[in-house]
Amino acid sequence: MLLSIVVPCYNEQEALPLFYKEICRVAGEMKASHGADFEFIFVDDGSRDDTLAIARRLHGQDARVRYISFSRNFGKEAGILAGLEAAKGDYVAMMDADLQDPPALLPQMLDALLTEDYDCAATRRTTRQGEPPIRSFFARLFYKIINKMSDADIVDGARDYRLMRRRMVDAILALPEYNRFSKGIFGWVGFKTKWLEYVNVERVAGETKWSFWKLFLYSLEGITAFTTAPLALASLMGIFFCVLAFVMIVFIIVRTLLFGDPTSGWPSLVCIVFLCSGVQLFCIGVLGQYLAKTYMEVKRRPVYIVRETEEDDLP
Ligand code: UDP
Ligand code: MG
Repeated sequence: MLLSIVVPCYNEQEALPLFYKEICRVAGEMKASHGADFEFIFVDDGSRDDTLAIARRLHGQDARVRYISFSRNFGKEAGILAGLEAAKGDYVAMMDADLQDPPALLPQMLDALLTEDYDCAATRRTTRQGEPPIRSFFARLFYKIINKMSDADIVDGARDYRLMRRRMVDAILALPEYNRFSKGIFGWVGFKTKWLEYVNVERVAGETKWSFWKLFLYSLEGITAFTTAPLALASLMGIFFCVLAFVMIVFIIVRTLLFGDPTSGWPSLVCIVFLCSGVQLFCIGVLGQYLAKTYMEVKRRPVYIVRETEEDDLP
């Protein structure tokens, strides 16, 4: 039984050695308890620090360590994809390098797949403590909106930390899209998932790469990738405004017939023009978002470009 551990790393020079130490400890225990063999795949996402050098060094010391290094920063989603494609294991786990996904949960996750009839053991955090309240608010809002609009089940608080059976990994790799929103992809492929809950922990070293703005763009990515509901917005608003206009026309005709026609109300007219053109621009913008995504998809560019892997590092 081979377990692949996929770890996307971007500027993780402080955290990576600590992570490696911890995962080795857990791997040792699981070798004894489950007879599991391991491979660790570090995906260096174009780091500008010594992450790659550390991965090389670890590979030199330990044949279980493999690494893939990108030609530039392609984002975490690309790292996940590269890791899943490279993984050879019967079971594949994904976790962050910052020890926010405690490797100590792995035995429990593997037990869920071995003894219970699950294809995947995933984790979600129970609290959003330690997070700015405004960020929590928007995160909750995002999950509410996307779950209403899309048929992929996207769980609030779910982390990317999960252990999957080979058949689920193959299903994920069969999705060829360029815009990869993996939280949605995991939900979309289905399979039986066991959710383990744990309390959020702070990263051991380094700092988070997600600003509020990055998260906001990421949420838009998720929405455009997993639902086309916003495209119906223009039609719905169009109908609404037509009905409204009709009512207003009737009202104005009746009022003019009853009370004559004083020329007034141009400020309200300006407001209405502004509102309607705002709505129109917004709808064109939504359309543009989908068009842009489609444009990127039809270009068929690779999701990532590899600069170096451990196989190039032959003596
Ligand atoms: N990461 C990556 N590429 C990026 C950004 C992040 O591979 O462009 C990795 C990062 O090294 C870490 C994981 O994704 O292992 C999660 O990132 P981070 O801890 O910054 O996110 P947070 O835990 O704060 O959501
Ligand atoms: Mg983190």
